Amino acid sequence: MTPDAIDPNAVAPAVANLETIVSLSKRRGFIFPSSEIYGGINAVWDYGPLGVELKNNVKRAWWRAMVQDRDDIVGLDAGILMHPQVWVTSGHVGSFSDPLVECSTCHRRFRLDELPGTEDLSQTDLRDESITARLGLKCPFDETLLSAPRRFNLMFTSHMGPVEDDGNVVYFRPETAQGSYVNFKNVQQSSRKKIPFGIAQIGKSFRNEISPGNFVFRMREFEQMEMQYFVRPESAADAFEMWLPKRRAWYEAYGVTPSRLRFREHASDELAHYAKKAIDVEYRFPFGWKELEGIHNRGDFDLGNHQRASGENLEYFDQASGEHFIPWIVETAAGADRAAFTFLIDSYREEEVRGETRVVLGLHPDLAPYKVAVLPLLKKRPEIVELCHRLLGDLKRDIMAVYDDTAAIGKLYRRQDEIGTPWCVTVDVDSLEDGAVTIRDRDSMTQERVPVEGVKRLILDRMAAIRP
Ligand code: ATP
Repeated sequence: MTPDAIDPNAVAPAVANLETIVSLSKRRGFIFPSSEIYGGINAVWDYGPLGVELKNNVKRAWWRAMVQDRDDIVGLDAGILMHPQVWVTSGHVGSFSDPLVECSTCHRRFRLDELPGTEDLSQTDLRDESITARLGLKCPFDETLLSAPRRFNLMFTSHMGPVEDDGNVVYFRPETAQGSYVNFKNVQQSSRKKIPFGIAQIGKSFRNEISPGNFVFRMREFEQMEMQYFVRPESAADAFEMWLPKRRAWYEAYGVTPSRLRFREHASDELAHYAKKAIDVEYRFPFGWKELEGIHNRGDFDLGNHQRASGENLEYFDQASGEHFIPWIVETAAGADRAAFTFLIDSYREEEVRGETRVVLGLHPDLAPYKVAVLPLLKKRPEIVELCHRLLGDLKRDIMAVYDDTAAIGKLYRRQDEIGTPWCVTVDVDSLEDGAVTIRDRDSMTQERVPVEGVKRLILDRMAAIRP
């Protein structure tokens, strides 16, 4: 499958300028640069009060689709540090690398395939030592001809225990998948799962990326949501085809515009060392079409190699047929940060309302940091404020809710629109008489009057009705 045969620029990004999202994230408390008071640290970002809610909701939505809703997938939370041999066996020590080129004048280093003019290079070209000279690739800062590419290993290392020597090197995992492979037997036997079955994991991974950037798109510390599906060898191709539409549909179900998603198959010389076939789900970011998630047919590479290197039998015994075999693996490998970033970008819109610009994050309610905001029309009336807090307390038992009285109502609504809160509940003077409050819908801006006791049920019912 080639990328959709259309002009790649024909699909406009949801936001023309990435800066719009970066500044909204900072201003409203979604994402901050790490260690900012010390000038920041490259390629690490911190999630603020709203960002941590959004990212937790993204992870919850993934877990719901991949574990909770399925009978054939179970969860795992393996350690970030693993036996160093795992990374030798997996091929990461030998070949988890990117092509690095260097400027001999300013000593800046670049990932070759991210330089302008390299878009169409094959993986064979990227390994060709003469490529920079052949294409005359120059440093974007001072025009010096760049060095020949060399492979740069992306794994961070440290030392285990009080002595720092080569004998106790440990690696920060660059993917969660290996934790699922080395636990294959433990999980399969303890959960008594029969093939086909999967192991899902969410957790931090680390890569010493040569050229991180584009905000949280490429970081050095990030979070992955990966699922390894163990199948009979002859079923792997079908399982791969089964997961492709399911994973694309997950993004769409949570609101990503379908035309900004596409599949892209890896060329044979682009395939990772473990992969028999790989297709990326790509999203039209403001900086181009980029990978959101990879779906890989890994064959028996992982369990086969771990069996050979560890000496442990990792075969599966099929009781029905009496066969012993190494299962093949189909992997869906997504990034929690990239997914949250995508939902943030794709839900952003600016609208003209009564001559003013209204900024809205049209987030799916399951992803929105707050589901509801409780707002007093008159904060000087203690009875109104008290009713607000009673309602808030009741809502908070079940959902994320927030109270705000620091501005006039119009401004309070706009603040909630900008952070994606699907519903605002306003308590006014009449509420004290008739026990009713006004619910305002973020998208339609329509308002309806409902009894205060019915607010929570109404919101929970609406959320249940639109949950994928
Ligand atoms: P890329 O080609 O962008 O470097 P990859 O093909 O190496 O990505 P995988 O190894 O398939 O990525 O990782 C699975 C997912 O993990 C990616 O689709 C992405 O969502 C996420 N991911 C990988 N590297 C990073 C990173 N440096 N920062 C944020 N997310 C990442």
